Amino acid sequence: MSRKNRPWLFYDTTASVCTTCLRQVEAKIVIKGDEVFLDKWCPAHGIERVLIADDADYYRLCREVYVKAPEMPERFNTAMQHGCPYDCGLCPDHMQHSCLSVVEITEHCNLRCPVCYAESGPERQQHRSLAEVEAMLDAVVANEGEPDVVQLSGGEPTLHPDFFAILGAAKARPIRHLMVNTNGLRLAREPDFVARLASYKPGIEIYLQFDSLRDEVLQYMRGADLAAIHERALANLEAHGISTTLVMTVKRGINDEEIGAVIQHGLKYRCVRGVTLQPVSDAGRNVGFEPARHRLTVSEVRRRVAEQSGLFTLDDIVPVPCNPDTLAMGYALKLGGEALPLTRHLGPEALLAGPRNTIVFERDPAMKDAVFKLFSTNHSPESQANCLSALLCCLPAISAPELAYENVFRVLIVQFMDAANLDLRALKKSCIHFAQPDGRLIPFEAFNLFYRGERMAKTQEIQAEIAEGAARRRKVIAVVAE
Ligand code: SF4
Ligand code: SF4
Repeated sequence: MSRKNRPWLFYDTTASVCTTCLRQVEAKIVIKGDEVFLDKWCPAHGIERVLIADDADYYRLCREVYVKAPEMPERFNTAMQHGCPYDCGLCPDHMQHSCLSVVEITEHCNLRCPVCYAESGPERQQHRSLAEVEAMLDAVVANEGEPDVVQLSGGEPTLHPDFFAILGAAKARPIRHLMVNTNGLRLAREPDFVARLASYKPGIEIYLQFDSLRDEVLQYMRGADLAAIHERALANLEAHGISTTLVMTVKRGINDEEIGAVIQHGLKYRCVRGVTLQPVSDAGRNVGFEPARHRLTVSEVRRRVAEQSGLFTLDDIVPVPCNPDTLAMGYALKLGGEALPLTRHLGPEALLAGPRNTIVFERDPAMKDAVFKLFSTNHSPESQANCLSALLCCLPAISAPELAYENVFRVLIVQFMDAANLDLRALKKSCIHFAQPDGRLIPFEAFNLFYRGERMAKTQEIQAEIAEGAARRRKVIAVVAE
C-alpha cells in the first residue's frame, strides 16, 4: 500500500492570534510550490490560511540566512505574565531593541484618510501635553541610551500647538535622528514653517506620505486631491535641503503598479533619501479593504520594485536582519546625476556563495558585522553614508568616493502584520515601537491590534482569562504535590 503525502512542505510551527477573537492560537508555516502560508487553528473559530510570501526561496533566505543575534534594550518595561502578545512591553521575552521609536503627539489631523491605523481626523482634538511627550521621549532614552531614530507622529504632528517646543525637547535629548511623519499639507502651504524646520538640521528627516502621483488614487487612499500639495511640499523641502523619505502605503490593484514611478520621482529630488513601501495592513480605519483583493506580501512588493523601478533588481532588495520576515531593503548611490544600485554587490550571491577571493561574508565576521550594521532600520541618511563609505572600501568591485548623505537612496519595504498574518515569532523581533507616557515601548503591530484605545478592553478580557487559567493550574499542581 502506498502512503499518501501532504501536498505541501511542513516548514515550521509558530503561534499567531485568531482573527476573530484575538486569542493566541497555534500556527503552521507550510510551503506549497513557491507560496508560503500561515495555517492557523482556533478551537472556537476554526481554520484560517493566509499567504505570507509568494517566493519560497526568498522566505527561506529570510529565515535561514539573514539571522543575527537579537540586540537588547537597556531595560525592559513590563513583566511576563500572560504570554505574548499580551505583555507589551517591552517584556523580557522581546527579541529586539527599538531601532525606531514612534512618539504620537496628537490625535488631530487635517485629513480623514480612508486608510489610517490611528483612526485620526479633524474631529479628534486631543493633543498630548508637552509634559506627556517629554515623558515618552524620556522612556525611549531610558530604554535605548542614545536612541537611533525617533519619529514624531500622530494624527498630524505638525498641527500640535507646541510642535516646535516638542522638536526642541527631542533635540535636547541624546537622540541621533529625528523624523516627522506628515501628510505634507503644512509643508506645502507654509514655506516659513519649512524654513523653521530647516533650522533643526542636521539630524531631522521628513517622512512624507506619498501613495501616488495621481489624484484619483490619492482621493481613494486619502480622501483628497493631494498631487499638487505633494509637489509643493517637495519643492519647499528641496529648497531647504531637508532629508525626505517618501512613504507609500501599497494596496494591490490600487497603486501597486505605481511603485516604480514613485521611486523614479523620488530620484529626481536631491532631498529625497528614499522610498518606504508599506503593504496595506488591516489595522484601524481601512475603508473598503478586502483581504483577498488588496493584500500584498513583502516578496510581492519586492518583485514589483524589481519589475518597475528600472533601477533595482531582485538581488538588490535583501532582507533586513533585525526582522527579516517583515523588512527588506535596497541601496543605490546617487553619483554624478546617475543612480547606481549597490545591494547586488552585497547580496547573497556575492556575500554567501561567491568565490573565496570576493566576499564570503559568513566566513568574515567583520564584513558580516558591516553588512548587518548597514542593513538595519536604525540609520539616518548621515550614518548610512558613513557606513556605506566604510563598507565600500572592502568591496574591490566598487570605488569608494567620499559619500555624503545626498548620495544615498534607499528603498525599504516595511510590512506591518495584522491579526490575519501575525506571526508571533516575527512580532518578537519587531524593532519599531510606540512610546507611551507611562514608560512602555509597545511593538507597532501589537499596539495597533491590542493596546490602542478601546482595543485595550478586549486585551484585558483575554489577560483575565489567562490569569484565571494559570490560577486553576497552580491549584491543581498544589493538590497533586500534597
Ligand atoms: S510582542 Fe514583545 S513585548 Fe509584546 S508580549 Fe510579545 S515578546 Fe513581549
Ligand atoms: S493617515 Fe495620516 S494624514 Fe491620514 S488621517 Fe491618519 S494621521 Fe491623518
